Amino acid sequence: MDRYAAMLHHRKARLVQGDPIAPPLVSAATFHVPDHANGGYSYSRAGSPTWDELEGQLALLEDAPVVAFPSGMAAISAALMAVLRAGQKVVLPSDGYYTTRLFAEEFLKPFGVTATYLPTVEFSTADFAGAAAVFIETPSNPGLDVCDIAAVVARAHAAGAVVIADNTTMTPVLQRPLDLGVDVVVAADTKAPSGHSDLLFGHVASRNAAVLDRVRNWRRLSGAVPGAFEAWLVHRGVETLEVRMARMCASAGVIAERLAGHPGVRRVRYPGLPDDPSHAIAKRQMAGFGFLISFTLADAGVAEKFLADCPFIVQSTSFGATHTSAERRARWGDMVPEGFIRMSVGIEPTEPLWAAIAAALPEN
Ligand SMILES: *Cc1c(COP(=O)(O)O)cnc(C)c1O
Repeated sequence: MDRYAAMLHHRKARLVQGDPIAPPLVSAATFHVPDHANGGYSYSRAGSPTWDELEGQLALLEDAPVVAFPSGMAAISAALMAVLRAGQKVVLPSDGYYTTRLFAEEFLKPFGVTATYLPTVEFSTADFAGAAAVFIETPSNPGLDVCDIAAVVARAHAAGAVVIADNTTMTPVLQRPLDLGVDVVVAADTKAPSGHSDLLFGHVASRNAAVLDRVRNWRRLSGAVPGAFEAWLVHRGVETLEVRMARMCASAGVIAERLAGHPGVRRVRYPGLPDDPSHAIAKRQMAGFGFLISFTLADAGVAEKFLADCPFIVQSTSFGATHTSAERRARWGDMVPEGFIRMSVGIEPTEPLWAAIAAALPEN
């Protein structure tokens, strides 16, 4: 909790009379550099004051230094490029964020990196011999399966592999992979941290200075640089992350339980439900059960009608925003039943939200 208070006041010690309380939004390509040897900002691909404000704030959240990126995928690709070399092997989740697998297939493989895939539930007991990097995403998206982070770290480190965790679904408010021994955290701040469905952003966090230096160098040389305005908006979003998460998780817990008891709803997945396959591990390693619920309705037609009928669900992809959103994941080709819905619970007051969901659900 101290962390969130410190985060809200991270600028205070540096403020002088007349400074703005919110960080200034500095939109600049170039800076006044009469003396090149004297440090400071020079050119915005190498560094900018607005990134620094955001990275300072996110570093308090992660309890580790942070490098900001223009999207979650920019952060993920930077971390993979920073740790992997030709001839090495990376283990990735077969049921995690689809674009990470596409990146491995389209870009890592042609550069001589082998990618192998495992379902998230198998990572806790996997043999990582021969791997240079192990990449986890827990809970997985969209299936909400989990792996035991500390167990994965022990097995991966014994095999000499670096562990990267995509912590997007939980954020550091709910899950702290670095404290469980993970070497590098990657995250899409597009989701809950910015929280308002109005931008893409990402970051890499690590307590390994050599890895983070390479990540920073990747940003400078590849040019995957975030815009100042987006960084400024993420800073604003992160200020309310903890309170938004509290409401979202509390509502998700109530709604998941009611969905599980509803005659029109098939299989509900929510790590907070006591009989969910993810519950035991989730309870141990997560500070809350999150805002994502998946459930299955009879078929595609019933699911589409539910989504269209509920006035408090926006029909969109992505998750973690102020508005409750949901979609039928089979439309993207996910290996799920036709009536499978992933719902991201927003910050609407719980009871009106549930009333609207209940009214739109099929009776049985
Ligand atoms: C959205 C998401 C990403 C990618 O983030 P972008 O900002 O869209 O590039 C990566 N991992 C997970 C788990 C995500 O949900």
